[in-house]
Amino acid sequence: MAFQMGAPRPMVDVRALNLTCATCGRPIEELPFQPAMNDDGTPQRPVYCREHKPQRKSFGPRRY
Ligand SMILES: [Zn+2]
Repeated sequence: MAFQMGAPRPMVDVRALNLTCATCGRPIEELPFQPAMNDDGTPQRPVYCREHKPQRKSFGPRRY
């Protein structure tokens, strides 16, 4: 399936960080960015797997 829009973004291998998706709890192997980490090894912002990463095209209701 061709799903390219512009330049491909490099993926960051984050397996060493033991991150899990904030929505489904599945382990995350790679992200399109380097996540900012706290000193205790937790991400400073919630991270999501490919299925649950936030969509930018619409601003839905935010639940935190
Ligand atoms: Zn998920």
